[in-house]
Amino acid sequence: MNQAPMFLNVFSLIILAILNVVFFSKKRLHKVEDNLYAFLLIMETITITVGLALGGMLTVNIPNKLSVIALLNKVYLIGLITSSSVFAYYTYCISHLYNPKSNIHKAVYFTFLIGVMFLTIILPVDVKEVDGVAITSGLAISFTSVISVLLYFVLFLLLLVDVKNFNNKKYIPIYILLIESIFTTVIQMIYPDLNYFINPSAVITCLIMYFTIENPDLKMIEQLNIAKSQAERANNAKTDFLSNMSHEIRTPLNAIDGFSQLILEEKDINVIKDEARDIIEASQNLLEIVNGILDISKIEANKLEIVNTEYEPSKVFDELVKLTKARIGDKPLDFRVSIDKDIPNYLNGDYVRLKQIVLNLLTNAVKYTKEGFIELKISTVKKDGVCRLIISVKDSGIGIKRENIDKLFNKFERFDLEKNMTIEGTGLGLAITKKLVELMHGKIVVDSVYGKGSTFTVALDQIIVDKIKEEPKKVRSSKAVVAKGKKVLIVDDNLINLKVAARLLSTYKIETEEVASGFDCLKKIEEGNTYDLILMDDMMPKMSGVETFQKLKAMEGFNTPVIALTANAIVGMKEKYLSEGFNDYLSKPIDKNELDRILKAYLNMKSKKM
Ligand code: ADP
Repeated sequence: MNQAPMFLNVFSLIILAILNVVFFSKKRLHKVEDNLYAFLLIMETITITVGLALGGMLTVNIPNKLSVIALLNKVYLIGLITSSSVFAYYTYCISHLYNPKSNIHKAVYFTFLIGVMFLTIILPVDVKEVDGVAITSGLAISFTSVISVLLYFVLFLLLLVDVKNFNNKKYIPIYILLIESIFTTVIQMIYPDLNYFINPSAVITCLIMYFTIENPDLKMIEQLNIAKSQAERANNAKTDFLSNMSHEIRTPLNAIDGFSQLILEEKDINVIKDEARDIIEASQNLLEIVNGILDISKIEANKLEIVNTEYEPSKVFDELVKLTKARIGDKPLDFRVSIDKDIPNYLNGDYVRLKQIVLNLLTNAVKYTKEGFIELKISTVKKDGVCRLIISVKDSGIGIKRENIDKLFNKFERFDLEKNMTIEGTGLGLAITKKLVELMHGKIVVDSVYGKGSTFTVALDQIIVDKIKEEPKKVRSSKAVVAKGKKVLIVDDNLINLKVAARLLSTYKIETEEVASGFDCLKKIEEGNTYDLILMDDMMPKMSGVETFQKLKAMEGFNTPVIALTANAIVGMKEKYLSEGFNDYLSKPIDKNELDRILKAYLNMKSKKM
């Protein structure tokens, strides 16, 4: 080897060695590009080292020198061809064609590489020594040259296919590589002896790659920045959510507070009753908001459960229609309902969640449609004992922009806020809806034209229950449960809650005693007081309801039923309290029907005709 190529290749090798040390000594990412870059560095190092060894071979005296040169030549050719193939594959991996989920391209690349290596090994290389210079020729050399040209052609094609991303900075080293290759080829055509620029040009490309895209520090920083902006987005979404929530909660609270004050001053009983109804409606809105937050927290904790029971779909849909009509109120909306007549009488599934899904969609349709119509259409497909309910909710409302469709089911996302200032919402409804549909193994799709309206379609499979429809029993007019003479102890540290519970029980003519702590409850029992039932709050300071209950149970002769009364209403709580030994569970705010059930069960009450 003469001095100039020797010097260039040694210099390239030193640069490569430094690059290797710097790159491999750092903690790096293991994305496909990083792995290819690592592979490229190793292959280039081997190729240049072998190239240098080849240059020095003729000066040493070893047996079978020409065969050793031929062998090293093959290693050199394999190194060259591998580097070219890595450049081409790398270009594919940074183009828009790359599919990270598929492994086919990997398989194609490695099959190609192994095939080319194999052919290079078996094809012949002839080495002759002429005037102290090794002259190599043979099929292996021609083959690798053709493949190299082809690979560069593929690389060029990839750049053309991805031309709309031509300004992607990851392409800079590839452009430089192409310019270097053209330069090297032209030089070689003019001066065939100057064939020693191939390796240095590849090293230059590796160097540029390191400083532009493959520098692990840069990549780490890039990843950190992505993570940081994701965290910031999530944080902003939560902040928006909290301020939104505060507004959402204040709205019904304002009604509750305002009407309650008015009631205090009002004398007309009819007006009082009207205002009390408004208070109940506002409280139910408030409860809906809290339940939405609960549902989302259950979803995040993977605790949302689907409870399948037998139900009458026609009843569920009737109720949905009634609720929607009430929500439409006097809005100028035409509510169209079309329900398949052939829906089975009974189905098995989670009808509570089914109702929640459809009601969410209907509520949105009402909220986001100023005028025109909303339509509820339910059709069915029955097969092998399964009834697929296809429920579509269509509206002629504001519609959703195409770019927002993908974000629609993300929690806390709300759109067109300037336009929708007056529409109440938390951005949780559709996130919950989607999760519920998924948990029920169903599908939900959206079709929307901005400014024209939207259609949400849900498909859910429910098991058909073969049963003759029972005629509804004649319900006795009004029924009240009375438990005169029964005595209940209420334990709660919150005085308002004590008052509410006592007031509710007084409607059953039940005598109540109230205490504000576990200690006072224990004292009452120790003093010999007896009760028919104890309602026990759990979250009390110093001694919780559960602790108080454990102490009660340990008392000799204590056998009063104790009901856990708690605002801790997340899934699994009922089971938790029952496993602690409580007789039953009642969540706050107290549902009148649930209270009825519990009093009937534990106070042996009878319904009395009013
Ligand atoms: P919320 O209605 O409480 O804001 P959702 O999760 O139910 O939350 O909906 C998220 C967002 O999707 C809404 O804020 C609204 O911008 C948009 N959206 C939902 N349903 C409709 C609809 N039928 N028409 C137009 N926009 C809708």
